[in-house]
Amino acid sequence: MREVDIKALERAFAQVERQVARRIGDMYRTRCQGCGGKTEVQYTGWLKQVECSACEEPCDLMRSHVIMADFQHKGAGLVECPRCQHVWRTGNVSARVRCPTCSYTFEPINREVHPARYRCGACGNEEPIVAAVEAQGRPPSHRMRFLDLLCETCGRRHQRPSQGDLDRYAAIESRVRSNFSKLRVPREEIPAGYNTDQLRRYGYRFWHELFSARQLRGLDLLFRAIARVPDSPSRELLTLHASSALEFNSLHCSAKGLGTGAIRRAFAHHALIPAKEPLEAHLWGIEHRFSVGGSSGGSARSTSGESFPRGDGPSNPPNAGRSGTAAAPARSSSTANASRPARLAASASL
Ligand SMILES: [Zn+2]
Ligand SMILES: [Zn+2]
Ligand SMILES: [Zn+2]
Repeated sequence: MREVDIKALERAFAQVERQVARRIGDMYRTRCQGCGGKTEVQYTGWLKQVECSACEEPCDLMRSHVIMADFQHKGAGLVECPRCQHVWRTGNVSARVRCPTCSYTFEPINREVHPARYRCGACGNEEPIVAAVEAQGRPPSHRMRFLDLLCETCGRRHQRPSQGDLDRYAAIESRVRSNFSKLRVPREEIPAGYNTDQLRRYGYRFWHELFSARQLRGLDLLFRAIARVPDSPSRELLTLHASSALEFNSLHCSAKGLGTGAIRRAFAHHALIPAKEPLEAHLWGIEHRFSVGGSSGGSARSTSGESFPRGDGPSNPPNAGRSGTAAAPARSSSTANASRPARLAASASL
């Protein structure tokens, strides 16, 4: 046990924030498709894919065309058009719906294939997912499926990624690939075992494969900046705090649903089941002008007078004034900032 120098901790956090907040935030830049305004992606929805072992086309490993249920409105949910991938919220996922973009009609709730199997949309081949994983010799890849953003003009929006979003992400991936040997990421192999075999059957061999390229790059920046903090107790506390972000920032996390905490954390189940539909949070978290409520979300004061529907906040540890991550204490402009390191110190029990 020892006393924590709160002022030193605040200085240390401010130093880390100066060094990485913008660089991390830059990786989440996007445009609201409602008003064209610039913003950052709060959550990115992914969908696992395997290569069809018959024709090598990428195949979605989806449960249905419902992305997530809306727990505040029974029967409603966020759905994706199977033809054009448009994403929208519909009042009844069990009814036949018409895509507002391409007019295709379908029943979102319908499950097209058994959860342990995939069906190729190109050639009709259907077989167990593990057979395709074995044939391709690597873990499933991921298709960016939707972006969840808070636009200052339009409010919360779910939108299909644009070509610009895909291109920006591809640039991050390629940068991570070429710098991989220099990144601070876990390089250990996943050992064989009762729980880890669930991952290994899905082709995972290394722990770093459980993170997106953006997460690897962001975590590298974050832990590198923390390592540069000269004050040792502050450095230890920030390392501890940042390590807790891992539970909310890997491709093992998935969506809980609309109207509830956003992220189902990696260890929500005591098992290592690969998430077919991972949800990636903004690693640093975005400051926004909406009040976010919810059982486990933050409690930001609204600075715009607008209110955000209760319960759509993150499931991360309280992060007043921000949403999206457990990684970073509030920004210096937040009213919560002064008390943040104090809370952090209290929770660390050093
Ligand atoms: Zn907008
Ligand atoms: Zn469509
Ligand atoms: Zn095929």
